[in-house]
Amino acid sequence: MTLASSRTAGRSCRLLRARGAFSHHLPSMHAASPPLSRQISMDAQNLTARLKSSGLLRSQALIGGKWIDAYDGKTIKVHNPATGEVITEVPCMGSKETNDAISSSYDAFYSWSKRTAAERSRHLRKWYDLLIAHREELGQLITLEQGKPLTEAMGEVTYGANFIEFFSEEAKRVYGDIIPSPLADRRLLVLKQPVGVVGAITPWNFPLAMITRKVGPALACGCTVIIKPSEFTPLTALAAAELALQAGIPPGAVNVVMGNASDIGDALLASPQVRKITFTGSTAVGKKLMAGASATVKKISLELGGNAPCIVFDDADIDVAVKGALGAKFRNSGQTCVCANRIIVQEGIYEKFADAFSKAVQNLKVGDGFSEGVAQGPLINEAALHKVESFVQDALSKGAKVLLGGKRHSLGRTFYEPTVLSDVKSEMLISREEVFGPVAPLLRFKTEEEAIRMANDTNAGLAAYIFTNNVQRSWRVTEALEYGLVGVNEGLISTEVAPFGGIKQSGLGREGSKYGIDEYLELKYMCLGNMTGN
Ligand code: NAP
Repeated sequence: MTLASSRTAGRSCRLLRARGAFSHHLPSMHAASPPLSRQISMDAQNLTARLKSSGLLRSQALIGGKWIDAYDGKTIKVHNPATGEVITEVPCMGSKETNDAISSSYDAFYSWSKRTAAERSRHLRKWYDLLIAHREELGQLITLEQGKPLTEAMGEVTYGANFIEFFSEEAKRVYGDIIPSPLADRRLLVLKQPVGVVGAITPWNFPLAMITRKVGPALACGCTVIIKPSEFTPLTALAAAELALQAGIPPGAVNVVMGNASDIGDALLASPQVRKITFTGSTAVGKKLMAGASATVKKISLELGGNAPCIVFDDADIDVAVKGALGAKFRNSGQTCVCANRIIVQEGIYEKFADAFSKAVQNLKVGDGFSEGVAQGPLINEAALHKVESFVQDALSKGAKVLLGGKRHSLGRTFYEPTVLSDVKSEMLISREEVFGPVAPLLRFKTEEEAIRMANDTNAGLAAYIFTNNVQRSWRVTEALEYGLVGVNEGLISTEVAPFGGIKQSGLGREGSKYGIDEYLELKYMCLGNMTGN
């Protein structure tokens, strides 16, 4: 059972509230920690107070431009994954609130879609400016609720905001077509129109960017949105929504609901007023949503899990390969869908690469994301830590060897040592599924054909990386890889100007770039007849 499926089974607000029990044993672990962690928690309290006074720490949901609590008053606790402390509580909502959000979004669609592209563009631009103006506070919020190092979190704010800027520009470029008519008295046209109300369900690993790359194109072409952020990271979503209101995006055009994921998801799926579901998250939940969307035949985009191969050929520049693999594997402590999940190294360079790579990994400082120089934050929760431990255990029991790390970090809680495993084989669990943690498994290959076969031997097809100095090989292998994104001699390739998305069971559709807006548009064919008369 995957982490996602185990997490989603039978959840309810009551269960979510019981997460307090999880946090109760944390203070004792905390008390056992050295003074540094007390210092961090004091700083976190100051930070929380500062964010509250800035108006960016919201703890209510947004429906129809109003900040509201759950109708039955239930809440979910939001934790700091580095310390386990409760940052705040947010409403635990369900179908009633979601249906109201759908109604408000439906009403707003009528007026928002009628505005000119230039007007929508200006509002999005203003939103972008506000996101950048509040880059530091948003970065702090991301580190607080998600755990990634502050510099990485600020990088996410820039990356996330860039989607809003890019689509503020694309808003003005939604062109239709005129088709040469086969009949002299007819004129044939294609209009592009917004699909309507969109349900956007997003994960915790990029609390801002996974939202902006959906909401940016949706709003740009005239759609309105109901965002359902992860229960683990709702605060960044709420702060972004607050800034959207400040940017003059009208009430109802952007709503945020959170709480019982399956109740909210089911309400979005059941409503005929919701015309599109856009989802980023696990493949298991994506499949459920795809099946559910069939009842009302909604448009659907899915950004699902990956199992990225990173192939290092004998002819690679070893420094470039080490740097690239390090970035591709250890960003966000290994918790991204495009993280290198299998580092497949040719036999002639294997030992040298393993040695240089392990040395580089050893230099990664682990700690609270707010501490100076930290490159590896905590995992999102204890379930994630247990998953990493079980994958490593499985690999070791089947013959893999630990080159570095291989266990929980001495900081305790959700910290895991940056780990390198050698002698990993394709049949081990760690090669079959996303480990979603700071563990780099090294596999060995002999020939190019074998590397391609190993790389494609998975149901996932999101990102792949190759390191080679042979330009013909880079083309040949890129064309043979069954993946939506390929990085050649580069480990960090995501940008708002290029299409992002997977094939096979990694998803449907693309986000970002000029193609990203098509996911939120319908084509309408218009035929003007009898055009030859006076
Ligand atoms: P997840 O468990 O699938 O959750 C994603 C979102 O779906 C969350 O908001 C979650 O809500 C919600 N959800 C869960 N069950 C639902 C249901 N029955 N109906 C409607 N919504 C439901 O995934 P995750 O653990 O948060 O995220 C990690 C996964 O996302 C990894 O597999 C990763 O590869 C993938 N990912 C893919 C991309 C990409 O672009 N391809 C990018 C980032 C991440 P709650 O959290 O409130 O339960």
